[in-house]
Amino acid sequence: TAASLGQSVIPIVNKLQDIAAQLGSSPAFDLPQVAVVGSQSSGKSSVLEALVGRDFLPRGCDICTRRPLVLQLLQTKRSDEEWGEFLHLPGKRFYDFNDIRREIQAETDREAGGNKGVVDKQIRLKIFSPTVLDITLVDLPGITKVPVGDQPSDIEGRIRTMIMSYIKIPSCLILAVTPANSDLANSDALQMAGIADPDGYRTIGVITKLDIMDRGTDARNFLLGKVIPLRLGYVGVVNRSQEDIANNRSIKDALLAEEKFFRSRPVYNDIADHCGVPQLAKKLNQILVRHIKSVLPGLKANISAQLVSVAKEHASYGEIVESKAGQGSLILNILSKYSEAFASMIEGKNEEMSTS
Ligand code: GDP
Ligand code: MG
Repeated sequence: TAASLGQSVIPIVNKLQDIAAQLGSSPAFDLPQVAVVGSQSSGKSSVLEALVGRDFLPRGCDICTRRPLVLQLLQTKRSDEEWGEFLHLPGKRFYDFNDIRREIQAETDREAGGNKGVVDKQIRLKIFSPTVLDITLVDLPGITKVPVGDQPSDIEGRIRTMIMSYIKIPSCLILAVTPANSDLANSDALQMAGIADPDGYRTIGVITKLDIMDRGTDARNFLLGKVIPLRLGYVGVVNRSQEDIANNRSIKDALLAEEKFFRSRPVYNDIADHCGVPQLAKKLNQILVRHIKSVLPGLKANISAQLVSVAKEHASYGEIVESKAGQGSLILNILSKYSEAFASMIEGKNEEMSTS
């Protein structure tokens, strides 16, 4: 869908990966992982799903996400099929995304039981699609305070430790999710993200449920960072409600409804860059582009070193080794062909690439 994460970054990543493949050293670089943090039912799974643009995560009232779900998106080049594959069911392709959701639920119950138990053993799912970026997203159980069902008395501490083990990784981008109908200033998400990332270099604030705030209140000051400042700022979103889920409302429909919501609320009109899933995707893209920029010098150095060694080898064999010479000029060709394209993609076009 138009709002999907990575849409504008895909061409850059593809070209860099192509070059790395030519050099026989793929992948060229790893993109940072993205993890969600927040209290239970704050809308974490809903936000991830909207970013991926596909319906497949268990969402809903009560505690749905009870094991970490490590979701690896993988781009397929030759096929227009999309499918999912679980680590615990090797070789089995899920073409129906509803089946993926059912399998996540079944596999959650297998390890964590049917009675609200939470365990830190991961579910690993790969989604193969021609329209995704090679990136890993982590859906995590939410912070909860009062033990229910099979949960032990120290459930809050256990979940906090589990979440921390993901978001403390210095390369992990954190989506700190806070529902707008709660006490925003006491957000668990922002509190935990603040511990893991005290300087705020890798935390994006996400305010969900703007549609169900108390009458007469709005999240404007929060989105503007006036309540709790955040270096990378905030984006407010409207995801599907429980009723929408029951009615099978599509992601596309939900995005239209979200757009309409913001358009009809004057208080959000002049802060459109803080509003909506497409803006969140755009923000994430910008951060990914910044990351790619930061790994480019190393990639260039690697390519130059390989060029030098190919040239040397070429010189030592004279004109005889045609294939090596061919390889050298091929790499040169690719480099010159793409270096300008990279520069313009990274410097200009991408920073303002629209996700609509
Ligand atoms: P998680 O526990 O943080 O993963 O939260 P979920 O994504 O499972 O969402 C919990 C519940 O809140 C579900 O019933 C969602 O439909 C609902 N929900 C999530 N985001 C929004 C939103 O922006 N507006 C409304 N009205 N409901 C939402
Ligand atoms: Mg969830």
